[in-house]
Amino acid sequence: MSVRLHNTLTRAVETLAPAREDLPFRMYCCGPTVYGPAHIGNFRTFLLQDVLRRVLALDGYAVRHVRNITDVDDKTIARSQREGVSLAEFTAGWTRKFHADCAALNLLPPHVEPSAVANIPLQIAMIEKLVAKGHAYAAADGSVYFKISTCPDYGKLSHLDLAALRTQSTNSAGTANDADEYARERVSDFALWKARKPEDGPNFWPSPWGDGRPGWHIECSAMSTHYLGDTFDLHGGGVDLCFPHHENEIAQAECATGHRHFAAHWFHCAHLMVDGAKMSKSLGNLYTLDDLRAKGATPAAVRYALVNGYYRSQLNFTLKALADAASALNKIRRAADKLLAAAGLTRADFAPPETLETVTAWGAFQPAWDALRDDLNIPAALGKFFGALPAVTAGDRPLEAVRADLSGLGNFLYALGIRIFEDAEQEAENGDRGAGSEERGDSAAAGSPPAEVAALAERRWAAKQARDFAGADALRAELAALGWRSIDRKDGYSLERA
Ligand SMILES: [Zn+2]
Repeated sequence: MSVRLHNTLTRAVETLAPAREDLPFRMYCCGPTVYGPAHIGNFRTFLLQDVLRRVLALDGYAVRHVRNITDVDDKTIARSQREGVSLAEFTAGWTRKFHADCAALNLLPPHVEPSAVANIPLQIAMIEKLVAKGHAYAAADGSVYFKISTCPDYGKLSHLDLAALRTQSTNSAGTANDADEYARERVSDFALWKARKPEDGPNFWPSPWGDGRPGWHIECSAMSTHYLGDTFDLHGGGVDLCFPHHENEIAQAECATGHRHFAAHWFHCAHLMVDGAKMSKSLGNLYTLDDLRAKGATPAAVRYALVNGYYRSQLNFTLKALADAASALNKIRRAADKLLAAAGLTRADFAPPETLETVTAWGAFQPAWDALRDDLNIPAALGKFFGALPAVTAGDRPLEAVRADLSGLGNFLYALGIRIFEDAEQEAENGDRGAGSEERGDSAAAGSPPAEVAALAERRWAAKQARDFAGADALRAELAALGWRSIDRKDGYSLERA
């Protein structure tokens, strides 16, 4: 177990480890607010958390992953009211949509996915604890606020200027902040429980302080500690959550439980940019998965494009990057086909590692795996991965080496969550829906190949069946020179324009 990752709390790259050897590695990730479809910026964070979880599992960690559903907050209430449906019906619909997108993007479901609404008693219990310990107070308006002056290390995650905070934390209830989201300049006592307002409609719950609803931050403190323990190993989210959400989560949990290290490690992912700009509705560059599918992209290409960046750097997403992702996937697929053929196997034999404990062979992909384990450096890992491909797909290699490389390839693709063959089948099914890349565009437009090309392809297939890989490669080059490519299937091949 030797996965290293940057920790926002300590600002250092540290080796991840469970608190105790007999415990799993426990990670909590802030989930979606279900008031609309998640956009690709949201998904980049969820995907990177998914890759981390897969890397941990491949490296021998037993992982327990909890990710919440925020189904009550200012936005969900406002939108459901506007649409004239109940909050429960409204959020259930968007939760289903979120799950469908997650499945399409091949995200592993969290082990527990608690909903804020379903866990209101947990949140009330934590607020009661905070009030009893003097860390929170009920204001005249019926809301309960966290008193940040009682939390000496408030601001430690986002490295706020404590001296500046001291003066602001003397806020009285009258100037306390009841918004869920606010800027660093508006640091002040924040709402744990929000008194019922007319605009909340029927969305209120009873509490010791009267009818109301929980603030946004308390749900994560209450649910993470409930499902993972007062302290756990890693907490993740987008960098925009660092302040105030995560800062407030720390204050609430640590003051309620009395443990100083709520989460040992904080994993933040940088913003996603689109065409060099921050995503926004007004710029028209706020994409959902459906938007990209409508442009012909496969979910695997979207996944590849979104994880292909270092998590602490902003990733600039473009449609060109999506086309490049589709090409990269094709390249990987061809390499996998070659390796399978060399091992005398078919696509049906290419499965993700079933028992992760037995993962040992990385073959030529060891350097790519090492880069992944070292601070989740996906671009470096992909560089080493593609660097290894020419050698592993060269003909005439010992079967032992081919098998190790095939295992390494399968493991590496599992780590990134990329299903190359399922996606190829999906592309074939969706062939008439438009092109995800120039390559697919051309193949869709291609007619039947000329006789000369068909003959070459037939000879190449025969050579491959005879395990004459050098011969098959030479014929492939001849095909390429004529602008054609042969794609091997389970029991045959097809031709498309290169
Ligand atoms: Zn959270």
